[in-house]
Amino acid sequence: MAPMRAIFTADRLWDGSQLIELPIVIAEDGLVVSIASGKEAAVPKGQLHAFPGLTLGPAFFDIHIHGSAGHDVMEATPEALLAIGKFLASRGVGAYLATTVTAPLDATLRSLEGLAKLIEKVPEKAQTQNASWPIGIHLEGPFLSHAKRGVHPPDLLLTPQIDTFDKMFEAAEGRIRLLTLAPELPGAAEFAAYATQKGVRVSVGHSNATAAETRATLAAGATSATHTFNAMRALDHREPGILGVVLTTDSLFAELICDGIHTAPELVRLWWKAKGPERAILITDAMSATGMPDGEYMLGGFAVQVAGGKATVNGVLAGSVLTLDRALRNFVEFTGAPVENGLRLLGTNPAAMTGFTGKAGSIAVGQPANLVVVDAAGKLVQPIHSGVLI
Ligand SMILES: [Zn+2]
Repeated sequence: MAPMRAIFTADRLWDGSQLIELPIVIAEDGLVVSIASGKEAAVPKGQLHAFPGLTLGPAFFDIHIHGSAGHDVMEATPEALLAIGKFLASRGVGAYLATTVTAPLDATLRSLEGLAKLIEKVPEKAQTQNASWPIGIHLEGPFLSHAKRGVHPPDLLLTPQIDTFDKMFEAAEGRIRLLTLAPELPGAAEFAAYATQKGVRVSVGHSNATAAETRATLAAGATSATHTFNAMRALDHREPGILGVVLTTDSLFAELICDGIHTAPELVRLWWKAKGPERAILITDAMSATGMPDGEYMLGGFAVQVAGGKATVNGVLAGSVLTLDRALRNFVEFTGAPVENGLRLLGTNPAAMTGFTGKAGSIAVGQPANLVVVDAAGKLVQPIHSGVLI
C-alpha cells in the first residue's frame, strides 16, 4: 500500500527554533518527512492543504491540565484519557502532562500507576481516533502551603517527605516530570534538590514564601513557577516574596492561566514583560468541566461548581475551563505580541522546561505531524493530528 501523504502550505511556519517563510510540510503515515521553503522547492504532488495568509506551528503542549470533556486524568482509565485526548486534539493540543491534585495517598498512587501504564503503552484507539495523549505527569500537591492551597484539601497536604515522594515516583514508573512545591515548607530546598536529581522539574507555587525562601529553592534546582499570581503571596515592595522573585529571575520559566479571569490583562502584560518569549509558558489548569455545559463536576476527588466560565468551590477558583487555543487568542489580544511568540509559549517553552523538546513543541522530520494553523489574532483555524485535519 502506498503511504498516506499529505502536504501543508502556509505563509509562515514556526518550527520551535526558527521562522520559515512559505513552508511546505510533507507528512506520510502521520509523520513529518520533509520541511522546505516554497522559495527553494516547488509544491510536490499529493493531497494539498493550503493555508494562505496563515501561520503553521507545532501542536500545543499543556503542562498543567487536570481534565476535560467530563473526565479527570486521575480516573487514569483508557476511556477517560480517550475522551480527554479527543477533545484536546480538537483544540490543537498534541501532548500534555496529566496533572494530579492533592488526594489521599492510596488514591494518588492508584492514579499514578494507571497513568504510567497508559503513558508507557498508548492504546491503539488513541492513534486510530487521533486523540492527544499524556507524555508525563505533573504532581500538583500534596507538598503545598496551607495558606495558599486554593481548593486542595487541607487535611491531605503534606510537608516534603522523600519517602512519600519515592513511593509516588515508583508508582508512576518514573513518569513524574514536573512537581509543584511551596518553598516555605520545612526541608523544601533539600527536597527540590532530590527531585531535580531524579529528573523531575520543580515548579514553585501554591506558596506564601518569602523572597529568601524562594531563592533557596531556586538555588536547589527549581526551574519554573506554577500558575504565576494564582495561589501566590501577593507582591509587596518591601518583602517581594515568591512573586517578586519569579518575575525578576530571568532564567526561571513561569506558567500563566490566560483566561482573563485568573489574571487581569494588565498583569498578563506585566508577566509578559518580565518573562519574555523564552521563559513564559501558557497553561490551562483545565478541569473535567472544560468543553462541557455548566453544572457540577469533579476535580480529583472533590466537587466543583461551574457557571459562566468560572469553576469554584465555595467561591474559591478551582482550576479553569480554559482551552489553549483560547489562551493563545487572549494572550495576543492582551499583549499585542505577534502570534509566533504565542506559539513559543504554548509549545516550545514548556517542552524546553520539561526536557521534552523533540517530543512536543517543535516540528521536525521523523516526528508526528501534530500541527496547528493559526491566524495573526491567534485564532486556531485548523488543528492537525498525525497529518490528519481534525
Ligand atoms: Zn493549582
